[in-house]
Amino acid sequence: MGLLDTKSFFVLGLGKSGMAVARLLAGKGYEIVASDDDADVVRSARDARDLTELGDRIEPVTMDLAPAALDKCGCLVVSPGVPLEHPLVRRARQTGITVTGELEIAFRFCSSPIIGVTGTNGKSTVVSLLGEVFTAAGRRVVVAGNIGTPLSAVVETGGSCDVVVLEVSSFQLDTISKFKARVAVLLNVTVDHLDRYEESFEKYASSKARILDNADDETVFVFNDEDAVCRRIAKGYQGAKIPFSSSRELDVGVYAREGTIVRSWKGTTEPVLAIEDFSPIGIHNLENAMASVAAATPFEVDVASIKLALENYRPLSHRMEPVKIVDGVTYINDSKATNVDATVKSLRSIDGVVVLILGGLDKSGDFGLLREHLDHVKRVILIGDAKEKIRKALTGSCRILDAGDLEEAVREAARIAKAGDTVLLAPACASFDMFENYAQRGEVFRAAVNAL
Ligand code: ADP
Repeated sequence: MGLLDTKSFFVLGLGKSGMAVARLLAGKGYEIVASDDDADVVRSARDARDLTELGDRIEPVTMDLAPAALDKCGCLVVSPGVPLEHPLVRRARQTGITVTGELEIAFRFCSSPIIGVTGTNGKSTVVSLLGEVFTAAGRRVVVAGNIGTPLSAVVETGGSCDVVVLEVSSFQLDTISKFKARVAVLLNVTVDHLDRYEESFEKYASSKARILDNADDETVFVFNDEDAVCRRIAKGYQGAKIPFSSSRELDVGVYAREGTIVRSWKGTTEPVLAIEDFSPIGIHNLENAMASVAAATPFEVDVASIKLALENYRPLSHRMEPVKIVDGVTYINDSKATNVDATVKSLRSIDGVVVLILGGLDKSGDFGLLREHLDHVKRVILIGDAKEKIRKALTGSCRILDAGDLEEAVREAARIAKAGDTVLLAPACASFDMFENYAQRGEVFRAAVNAL
């Protein structure tokens, strides 16, 4: 029986993508029951105009009523924020109800080719870069996924475009069955989210590899040739591949030569852009630019459009975002650095002395990996829940200071930093212990800097 050969779906998790998939399916004539662990969310879903518009086809229920309602549905759609160990998911599996995710359902209704971008870090940046690249080339492009609009909302209207550039998380890949991308991009695989993968890096890495599960003759795999896990996955993939490398020249792929991003593809080697004309800082952002060049290649986007888009690109908020220079000290907001590798990349991007603000909610991060990148760090200022764990991991490698909250951390940093230094917020942790999300954390940082 096909995934869509049922009359009713249960949607678990009523965040943005859960709401969107419920609407999509209701619009296609299915009956929907929906629930969330948070009773307030269920209540507001009941009141939400965009759901009630669809009449009585969507029924938000509280968790106490959910098991009985689930038993009457043919399929359970799990939102990416809900762990697969959730009791309702277990119940579905035990009783033979198909379990799937928002991405899979939306894919079934998507008539445009997809560029799927996954990896531990850089997804949003690359997705937004590609949006600019295709726009510059005059193509009809839609950017979707975590970065803004769920794919379900994009396909709801039924139209098509030249390309959908989609940010894909490992949690979404965990529930696919037929999903495939015309171009599958894997940026990097480093430690993150081990709190949700039973502390197993292998499990997390194999989730990422699922972006190639349904690859066919048309699929092109774009990957980072400098990342060991990406390379291993590429080795096992027999289809078309475009590697990129920030540190070596390649026979085929995208790489740097004499300060220029160069592409070698189908026997032609051509310069794309001078690296100094791309404004986001750091090698990791160079890699993001290269990934975008590579991913646009199978769509035969002309080099002039790619160049124009990359030259005009400005970093997204909260990702290595320069906030202000106060008394000669540069303040950089990298609140989106929610894991250790992103913080390592931020530290490597900065020349000169750094005062680093670290901490927040730990996701089973290995903070010891920071030790070898602290040579130019004058002081680490700790905030949040993970303080003690980070202190233990870093003791002996640098001077460490405690702050009660982010505002205090900024004031302390301003006291310690001298003209020419950089104060960097790159916490290596999630934000949910003290903030709504990384964006709010970044805004509090900005406000604290502006108040200096
Ligand atoms: P994602 O959508 O995967 O979370 P973002 O583009 O929002 O990625 O960036 C998240 C964090 O990772 C930021 O702190 C950013 O500076 C850092 N980062 C961006 N690109 C890369 C990359 N290619 N490799 C490592 N870190 C990166």
